Amino acid sequence: MKLAAAEINLSALRHNLRRIKALAPRAKVMAVLKANAYGHGLVTIAQHLQDADAFAVARIDEALALRAGGLTKPIVLLEGFFNANDIPILLANNFQTVIHNEYQLNALESAKLDAPIATWLKVDTGMHRLGIEPEQLDSFYNRLKSSENVKPQVNLMTHFSCADDVENSKTKVQLNKFTQLVDNKNESLCLANSAGIIGWPESHNDWVRPGLMLYGVSPMQEQVGAHHGLQPVMRLTTRVIAIRSLPANEPVGYGGRWQSKHATQLAIVAMGYGDGYPRHAKNGTPVMIRNQRFGIVGSVSMDMITVDIGDNKAGIAVGDEVEMWGPNLPVEEVAAYADTIPYELLCNVTPRVSYEYVDKNQA
Ligand SMILES: *Cc1c(COP(=O)(O)O)cnc(C)c1O
Repeated sequence: MKLAAAEINLSALRHNLRRIKALAPRAKVMAVLKANAYGHGLVTIAQHLQDADAFAVARIDEALALRAGGLTKPIVLLEGFFNANDIPILLANNFQTVIHNEYQLNALESAKLDAPIATWLKVDTGMHRLGIEPEQLDSFYNRLKSSENVKPQVNLMTHFSCADDVENSKTKVQLNKFTQLVDNKNESLCLANSAGIIGWPESHNDWVRPGLMLYGVSPMQEQVGAHHGLQPVMRLTTRVIAIRSLPANEPVGYGGRWQSKHATQLAIVAMGYGDGYPRHAKNGTPVMIRNQRFGIVGSVSMDMITVDIGDNKAGIAVGDEVEMWGPNLPVEEVAAYADTIPYELLCNVTPRVSYEYVDKNQA
């Protein structure tokens, strides 16, 4: 009996990439695979994104793991390099680097290289995380253009802070600022993350950078992937390992965080924060057993969760499969019950969970 399993549906993954291309038909796609492909498995996910134009990761180790796995597409380092000694590794492995600060620019200019490196100059238009100041753009751009260590085309990018909210005018402000800044430069432009792709078509430009939506999950507030024609890639399941009867007015689990109002039955399921299930999931967070939703009760523990199955009309028995999230139970919904975002739940799935890759058409 397999406990704590993540079924990764590669046919859904390919469907989501096609959906991205349908939404942004003129843009090239840089598939974002950081954090173990959002918890889905870096190399296997990359192998099944043949139709992406490039990959993007956050760290050089992630990029090296893709090359070690035999992937040959261009790979963009979204935060660039942090140490000048890494520049020859970038060249040797055909990694493209984001440039977002003076250190990186100086290091790249003074490196001794046999061939130039492809760059993405990142400008901060209001996110205020990474990126050069708008006033620095011309000077950075001109220096990159005249460096022998840099490929002639200097790609330009920025990142949105609030694109998941279509009511928020901040995205328009960032978009306009970027458009003005790059107006006189004939280069490839890249702005949109998943939320930009869905919510802000005017941001698509030459390249888009989808992460979350590749995995079938909605980046937009209060929506699920299906609203945007996406299919969940991960199905996280486990099994019922015990059925218990609980009298009225009895507490359940560590700290007695929940108490029965009347006599009920509990299904104990083999999943907990040791598998990456969020410990802060509230009473009532849904799980699916026998095609019905039931709410969890009491604290999530390391290996187990208790589920209130009432009078068990459904006939739930030991060994039954439990879907924690997946095609029948959107991870977006579970995230809301845990006061977090689906990104975090997907990334947090731990190595104890067994991964299985399948190809299943979802209706
Ligand atoms: C993570 C990341 C993305 C992808 O974001 P999603 O919301 O998952 O689509 C795009 N660009 C940058 C710079 C990122 O860090």
